[in-house]
Amino acid sequence: MAAFDHVIVGAGISGMTAAILLAEQGRSVAVAESFRKPAPTIRGFRRKGVHFDTGVHYVGGLGRGQVLDAYFAHLGLDRLLTTVPYKADGFDVIAFEESGREFRMPNGYQACRDYLCAEFPEETKAVDTYFREIRRNFDASPFLNFERAFSMDGFLHDDTITLQNFLDSITDNATLKTLFSYQCLLYGVPPHNALLSTHSLVAGSYCRSAHTIRGGGHALAKAYEKRLAELGVGLFCNCEAGDIVLSPEKRLRGVQLSTGEVLETGSCIWTAQPSALADAVPEGVFRPSYRLRLRELRGSASGTMLFGVSDSPVPELDGRCRYIWPGGDFESKLEGDPLPDDNLIYLSSCLDQKSGKTVITVIFPGTIASFARWEQSAYGDRPESYKNFKRQLAEKLVATLRRRCPELSGVDFLECATPLTVRDYCSTPQGALYGLRHSNDQYNPAPVTKLDGLYLAGQGIVAPGVLGAVVSAYLACGIILGHESLHQELRQCA
Ligand SMILES: Cc1cc2nc3c(=O)[nH]c(=O)nc-3n(C[C@H](O)[C@H](O)[C@H](O)COP(=O)(O)OP(=O)(O)OC[C@H]3O[C@@H](n4cnc5c(N)ncnc54)[C@H](O)[C@@H]3O)c2cc1C
Repeated sequence: MAAFDHVIVGAGISGMTAAILLAEQGRSVAVAESFRKPAPTIRGFRRKGVHFDTGVHYVGGLGRGQVLDAYFAHLGLDRLLTTVPYKADGFDVIAFEESGREFRMPNGYQACRDYLCAEFPEETKAVDTYFREIRRNFDASPFLNFERAFSMDGFLHDDTITLQNFLDSITDNATLKTLFSYQCLLYGVPPHNALLSTHSLVAGSYCRSAHTIRGGGHALAKAYEKRLAELGVGLFCNCEAGDIVLSPEKRLRGVQLSTGEVLETGSCIWTAQPSALADAVPEGVFRPSYRLRLRELRGSASGTMLFGVSDSPVPELDGRCRYIWPGGDFESKLEGDPLPDDNLIYLSSCLDQKSGKTVITVIFPGTIASFARWEQSAYGDRPESYKNFKRQLAEKLVATLRRRCPELSGVDFLECATPLTVRDYCSTPQGALYGLRHSNDQYNPAPVTKLDGLYLAGQGIVAPGVLGAVVSAYLACGIILGHESLHQELRQCA
């Protein structure tokens, strides 16, 4: 039986971040990952010699000295990554199909504010209030604003204001509300359930800057792997963590792997789905109500994705994401069927370094409901009926794209991923694109559990996205190592 100071369950962004932080302090660390390689969510895949990104297209706060840049510097990842800025004059384009109007969101709070004030001169007060509130919420967290003295009060604020309530209180302008809300697609919860605090973290980071990483999620995964190897972290891939093992005194003793091996430890950070912990921890440790709460946690919106290639660049997507807004409300788009013709479309692109081709990812948000009849099937072993359904769905979605996005006329679509693919690839409930939903109708678990030495981290604990996953790891490791010292070190990296 191998023994470690810390065992991390899950080699996603949060698990690998936690492993680096602990190993940098000279602790022995093991990471157990159920997939055959670390970081399946962001690693992407290859088809016909071209690499396609999955779990990361662009990130906020990666400008020099900004929050994610400071985290990557502190983790020793900055020297292993090349960042590429999105277009400063419009990193996101929101195209309103009904009116034909397009809005290009520029980099920086002031530029965004000035741009929207010019587009909506009668709404200056609402625009100012929106950006003031986003910034205030963002800067209130010591994990996002290292200038702030460290205090957990500034982080775990008991915020229950929804984005919708906030927007309703500042404007009646439907177009402006859509422009204030579209980033809810980056955490998969409609505005009437989205917390203003979660929205502020996501929108606030992109307001500062938007970047992609050269080589995409694959390059990010490789950089993390390299750091783990440099620090001598034990990586156990193809090893699903099953039971949390207790000593006869009911103290944490280790983590049992699917191989039968037990990784002995008195300290475990669980970054896999929190709901899976309900079955992993022996009866009697958690209260029945907590166990039930874990089991019933709901995921964010899912979606169906198309992956395509183009021999020539697609100027509309060069250094920008593009959101096609058909009208209606976010609730029906995120929590409805992803199939109808009037769904919203989220487009991004990147350059495949090896082939020189432009790679296009399209997401049609929606739920897993249409795929319920195949929910017992697993990735790589689906019945013919599913394959036929998926083929017809892909044809319909490509036809929709040809009609609604003429800029994609030269794109050859090679692959389709359904909510079931997302569920099995990203190990998320209901095929959630962003793990657990952070919303006003759900209490996500805290990083500390009732079992001494067992902690939770991951996108479901703090916030979704690369930044949210990284922050969750610092939160869990701060409990182990001391928040103040980590905060001081981060301040020096900013
Ligand atoms: C299509 C898509 C696009 C996205 N685009 C962006 C983007 O542009 N920008 C952005 O910031 N974020 C984006 N995200 C979100 C981002 O990828 C995630 O928030 C982040 O990767 C989550 O990291 P994590 O470590 O919390 O979770 P995960 O990556 O889910 O890590 C958990 C790990 O645990 C493993 N695991 C599960 N169960 C077990 C077990 N029992 N034993 C061992 N291992 C286990 C899983 O295989 C997984 O590797 C996107 C996500 C998707 C799906």
